[in-house]
Amino acid sequence: AIGVLGNQGYVDDSSIRTLPGVRETIHVSKPYKMVSKDFHPKPTIVDVSGVKFGDGETPVVIAGPCSIETEEQMMAAAEQVKAGGAKMLRGGAFKPRTGPHSFQGLGVEGLKYLQQAGKASGLPVVTEVMRIEQLEVICQHADMLQVGARNMQNFDLLKEVGKTGHPVLLKRGMSATIEEFLAAAEYIVAEGNNNVVLCERGIRTFEKTTRNTLDLSVVPLISEMSHLPIIVDPSHATGKRSLVTAMSKAALVVGAHGLMIEVHPDPTKALCDGAQSLTGDGFAELMDDICGLLSYLGYSE
Ligand code: PEP
Ligand code: MN
Repeated sequence: AIGVLGNQGYVDDSSIRTLPGVRETIHVSKPYKMVSKDFHPKPTIVDVSGVKFGDGETPVVIAGPCSIETEEQMMAAAEQVKAGGAKMLRGGAFKPRTGPHSFQGLGVEGLKYLQQAGKASGLPVVTEVMRIEQLEVICQHADMLQVGARNMQNFDLLKEVGKTGHPVLLKRGMSATIEEFLAAAEYIVAEGNNNVVLCERGIRTFEKTTRNTLDLSVVPLISEMSHLPIIVDPSHATGKRSLVTAMSKAALVVGAHGLMIEVHPDPTKALCDGAQSLTGDGFAELMDDICGLLSYLGYSE
């Protein structure tokens, strides 16, 4: 396979077609090439400050609150998720809320609490970037950049995120096809940044009982199509605390390289996504459940 990038139109293949041993040339024009397995068959392992995502690695559990609310809340959450066995900590400082009157996040002050909690617990941290101007300060405070569902096709943001070289967690847009999802990842990789972890977080369907519909088939599908790791976020996919453990287990069975779980010290008081957040105890139970499954699936830890 020969990957051609940057061409403005049809590629003249006469110099290849006439080589000895070439019977025919088949043009494949996908909007993504660099993330495709056709051109890069070896699975990519993404290393986030020592935590590895990808084929052959134990699935990584990222956990923490939806939003960073106070220093105490973030410290308590970090302690709980660390005790449960999470390998990374999450928390949003810049929140993409549906309405302008909802809590929008603490901004840079929140990043400080997140970094502090990450250091105290020894967990690398991931947080969402919404705008290009936030990139510099987020890179200073976080080990991984999250591009949320609502920004999956913010192409200018994707390009700049690519230029940072920082590991990226790219969430699937709520109505994005697989091709659009991979094409979005291509924007980041095309800037020379291969450290991209994809995240299935549920898609919008006619069903309203759950917040979204978890499209688990993308996990094995993406593994067929792309060399990039893919994780699952059952919290946003279901919107319901009671469903998170079952869908976490399902995700691991179909081959997810990790999970992202919302955990809050007191979900009833959460400023964002309380209904889908587990308590520290709930998270510990989930991790207990998962532990048995992981050893059944052949992972060491
Ligand atoms: C989040 O992770 O808190 C979030 C906003 O997720 P999504 O972009 O998938 O809605
Ligand atoms: Mn959330």
